[in-house]
Amino acid sequence: MNVVTRIAPSPTGDPHVGTAYVGLFNYAFAKRHGGRFVFRLEDTDRDRYDAASEARILEMFAWLGLDPDEGPGIGGPNGPYRQSERLDLYRAHVDRLLEAGHAYHAFESAEELEEMRTDQRRRGVGIGYDGRGRSVPAEERRRRADAGEPHVIRLVTPEDGDTGFHDLLRGEVRVPNSEIKDPVLIKADGYPTYHFANVVDDHLMEVTHVMRAEEWVTSTPIHVLLYTAFGWEVPVFCHLPLLRNPDENKTKISKRKLDTSVASYRAQGIVPEALLNFLATMGWSMPDGREFFDLEEMVAHFDPERISLGGPVFDLRKLRHVNARYLRDILPLEEVADRARPWLEAAGYDGLDDEDYLLDVIDVLRPRVETLHDLVERSRPFFDDAYPFDGEARKKVAAGQQALEDLEREFSMLDLFDEDAVDDLLDDYVRSREIKKPQVLMPLRAALMGTTQAPSVTDLVVILGRRRVLQRIGRALAEMTAALPDDDPSEAERLAAEEAARAEAEARADLAAKIEAARRAARSGRSDA
Ligand code: GLU
Repeated sequence: MNVVTRIAPSPTGDPHVGTAYVGLFNYAFAKRHGGRFVFRLEDTDRDRYDAASEARILEMFAWLGLDPDEGPGIGGPNGPYRQSERLDLYRAHVDRLLEAGHAYHAFESAEELEEMRTDQRRRGVGIGYDGRGRSVPAEERRRRADAGEPHVIRLVTPEDGDTGFHDLLRGEVRVPNSEIKDPVLIKADGYPTYHFANVVDDHLMEVTHVMRAEEWVTSTPIHVLLYTAFGWEVPVFCHLPLLRNPDENKTKISKRKLDTSVASYRAQGIVPEALLNFLATMGWSMPDGREFFDLEEMVAHFDPERISLGGPVFDLRKLRHVNARYLRDILPLEEVADRARPWLEAAGYDGLDDEDYLLDVIDVLRPRVETLHDLVERSRPFFDDAYPFDGEARKKVAAGQQALEDLEREFSMLDLFDEDAVDDLLDDYVRSREIKKPQVLMPLRAALMGTTQAPSVTDLVVILGRRRVLQRIGRALAEMTAALPDDDPSEAERLAAEEAARAEAEARADLAAKIEAARRAARSGRSDA
């Protein structure tokens, strides 16, 4: 069989992680069988339509490397791939159902339908369309529709029996037909409903496997009735488990509880490989239980029957851990550097054309970061000679002034700036002064980076190289000397108090002078009189 799967997102906002998840599984299944993966835009809900959304969803798939074989802007034999451009097709297909008596025009107004529901509620019977439009004679229905009276078109559904389908993961699912109440196929605005367009398109686009989120299970019997009305073959259905919030009740993933926007993960510096790997483990696992694998490996082993319905929890902390693994040791160093470069450029860092330096910096930092964003933050001092000193670093530099002055001299005389030479130099220095190593390492690290949270001092010295090391130690010492009064809060308070006292004294003197002047003026006024 020539497998065709599809992802059929509605353009209603920021690309959702659920779309990436369902897309990934459809992609993997199609590719596993040498089939096609179709992208179809379900944009018939004009109230919720967001024009920018289509491009953003396509861009998300491109970023993830889940390239559709057919879709808007890509083309394919069964386009167009936007439902809003297929209205003629839906019209032609609904005409077929009307002619065969499987569908009918219904003219109830919104108020009438509301009254019907109120009445059903009062009587305690099932809520839903009661099929009243069927009793209007066919002739009259046609005449009123032709005359332009507002209407919808509904599917005729059986009253007795039940309708079922086989779900790849759930087995047999059956629903009593009494629960399916002549659903609308074409809305009053002339647009098809989700059910109608979805079935017509899946058929015309030759979709063999419908893999979609669990929430559509209850819609599927309606779809089956439509396939039957058309006399079409029903595709294989596979409803994927819903992603869950990591809360106690494991509720359905939602933007209110969790960041679900793929664009936002991307902006945090999650790499697409990590997101794909993480999503792949939502309900699915490699046959050998491996936790880290790439898209190709997933494709090679993907079997939807191995999906478990246990309600996979979408835990952002876990995603960050997976991402950290990719940055640390799954992606090659050069690859991480390529990913990081645009970020570093955007942060305005200098010295990025020194490729070796860039690689060295990333090499020491990548074991310590979870995202590209962290990497950029952590690498700031490496690319910015005017890095700020945090409070802790200031203290360490101030306490280690003597050691820093000595090391400045020693480093200036060191020939080779490699790991062994730097280690030896530091060891010798500590031994000769009979001090403990941290008393030297802490101030040096603080001086070189402006923070005490930094990688190994030897790594720092080797990567920065002689020119930067000397310049940075010099700068740290100069800053400390210049900044000393500000650094001492009691000193600052004393200066402020002195200043306040001086201002008060001046104000008092000023007032006294004014009083004296007034008194004098008054006296002379009296003598004038
Ligand atoms: N447009 C639907 C959605 O946004 C498609 C559901 C389906 O795959 O049938 O999820």
